[in-house]
Amino acid sequence: MTRTDPTRATLAAQGLGRVDGSTRAISPPIHLSSTFERDPDNQYRSGRAYIRADNPSFDQPEALLTVLEGGAGSMLFSSGMAAATAVFQALSPGDHVVAPKVMYWSLRDWLLGFARNWGLDVTIADMTDTGAIGRAVRPGKTKVVWAETPANPLWGITDLAAAVEIAHQAGARLAVDSTVATPVLTQPIDFGADIVMHSATKYLNGHSDIAAGALVTRTDDEFWQRLKTARKQLGGVLGSFEAWLLLRGMRTLFPRVRLACANAQRIAESLQSNPHVVQVLYPGLPGCPGHAIAAKQMKGGFGGMLSIRVKGGEAAAVGTAANVRIWKRATSLGSTESLIEHRASVEGPDTPCPPDLLRLSAGIEDADDLIDDLAAALAAQSRG
Ligand code: PLP
Repeated sequence: MTRTDPTRATLAAQGLGRVDGSTRAISPPIHLSSTFERDPDNQYRSGRAYIRADNPSFDQPEALLTVLEGGAGSMLFSSGMAAATAVFQALSPGDHVVAPKVMYWSLRDWLLGFARNWGLDVTIADMTDTGAIGRAVRPGKTKVVWAETPANPLWGITDLAAAVEIAHQAGARLAVDSTVATPVLTQPIDFGADIVMHSATKYLNGHSDIAAGALVTRTDDEFWQRLKTARKQLGGVLGSFEAWLLLRGMRTLFPRVRLACANAQRIAESLQSNPHVVQVLYPGLPGCPGHAIAAKQMKGGFGGMLSIRVKGGEAAAVGTAANVRIWKRATSLGSTESLIEHRASVEGPDTPCPPDLLRLSAGIEDADDLIDDLAAALAAQSRG
């Protein structure tokens, strides 16, 4: 890169600097047409025929995400789950996949239920342990190794360079759910990952006002073409207005993520000495097991997500969440407002999440407000 090349932060802020060709509009138009005219000789020279296959409103956000991740192409989906499940639906019955013990619960649930019934052979492994990944793969049989880093809701870290090597040696692709890291902090393709997945509902959009998902590929190969066919045929496409809102959110991705990281770091440090907290789980704390790898593969911060284990067990955790005034009791993450959630209630009986755990998504509010609100909620709970 020469010094005159704009950085990724600049490209994001300007939506790649594109201006509408016909109107010179800085903010792009929203294309709502579901169909596109054929040429008189029966060709589609515009390259577009029907909205389920091609939507002009996807062009700019997909191109921006490709640049931010350093990939060869991106595809938007109607949700993160639609994007993630497309990767597995592009495999064949009997194919073997490795998935993390700790990961976004709904995808793990889908893999162990629907995907297994559909004929995928699923092995669950501890993705924070390189040796365990090595033991889980079956050379020649494993087609996808799935990683999520930092991983919901305990925020363990997968060593991406090591996971790539193991997956590739076995003849598998490494796919990474990078929703929490965002391209601001980690570019998995830099480490050799083949597919990057985002729940764009979270940081990429950043305002809790759409559901969206995305895949990014390292190479435009046969598997990527199968994924394109899967999106077109399964129909999990994003709406035009949602694509526009996504691009608007991505313009502020860098400052939002940087502020959320700074807030999360301060909140984690302040809670470490709180007498009502048993443990703080945040990769930005030197005492957390994944810290050294996170420091190597995350640039500029450790993410906006952390969890705490509350003294007094499940009732104390739920009681603490009941006492907050500024934090919002809600699921999801990666938005401007800070969210608090008793995670075990969401994940059900098979969860690896301890019952005393509260998941915190640090937003971009004033850090002192967030710290004081949590400290007051913990103290009020302990007084009963
Ligand atoms: N991956 C992670 C890490 C998530 O947190 C979520 C949603 O919470 C998903 C995937 C699924 O995304 P969506 O809700 O957009 O389908």
